[in-house]
Amino acid sequence: MKSLIMNKKDLHVIAISGGKDSAALAIYLKDKYPEREFMYLFFDTGEELEETYLYINDLESRLGIKVRREFPAKSFKELLLEHNDFLPSPTQRWCTRKMKVETFLKVMEEFEGYQVYNYVGIRADEDRVGLRPPMDNITTVMPFQEDGITLEDVKRILNDSGLGLPRYYEPVKDEEYDIEYYRSRSGCYFCFYMRQIEWVWLYEKHPDEFKKAMQFEKQGFSWIQDMPLSDLIKPENIDKIKKSYKRTEELKKKQPLKNGTVMQQMSNMSKHDQALDDFEKDKFCSMCIL
Ligand code: SF4
Repeated sequence: MKSLIMNKKDLHVIAISGGKDSAALAIYLKDKYPEREFMYLFFDTGEELEETYLYINDLESRLGIKVRREFPAKSFKELLLEHNDFLPSPTQRWCTRKMKVETFLKVMEEFEGYQVYNYVGIRADEDRVGLRPPMDNITTVMPFQEDGITLEDVKRILNDSGLGLPRYYEPVKDEEYDIEYYRSRSGCYFCFYMRQIEWVWLYEKHPDEFKKAMQFEKQGFSWIQDMPLSDLIKPENIDKIKKSYKRTEELKKKQPLKNGTVMQQMSNMSKHDQALDDFEKDKFCSMCIL
């Protein structure tokens, strides 16, 4: 890839996460700037879902592009050991820094002297800023925000291209509870940003990955505070999670409340899911979930 852009002063980078927004951004920018050469980067943590790899392969073949895969210097297992088994969390998010941000900065060292444009797929209907690399020669560009591209537009772009949504969005139907659920983001299969119903999804759809996530829980550290995964899968807890999810979804349909706290209280949403709801409003970054 480097040899193709040696004679250029500018480097245009799109980080591909395996999620819908970064895929739509790649399609959108290739169409908008057909003459522009982009470097597509995927930071592979080695802890991704199979659906993520398939989606990136599909994106490559449909767009006729090559996505450069980059790996962190150390595996998650090694990093966890260095952190004395202290699992990452929304407030102690060492995983993104060690596995993605540092990998990104390492790649950027190859392009010293370039003006780098780092394109990020945060949409116009989102209210967050994302991570911004602290280097003078890297400019963050938000094309979807500049052009007013919303979630509906992203879905249209993906449908029109034939790529569609990642397969983890395909809902699982549970007739007994009359609910449908799915995984809502890309990133590591054990990502602590998952809601409890998404952990249930992982348990049902990817039992081997769920088991691996369980094995990372040691010394009293758990992915969900006060609920190790060995407890989450007890039938009575799965029952509670599915019922709580059903209540929340019904409330959302009936009365899309502006006040999230009221919604949380009325649905008896778990503390874990409440915390994620609050955190999601402004602190999610773009390196993992777009
Ligand atoms: S996807 Fe989640 S667990 Fe993986 S690096 Fe990103 S924030 Fe951490």
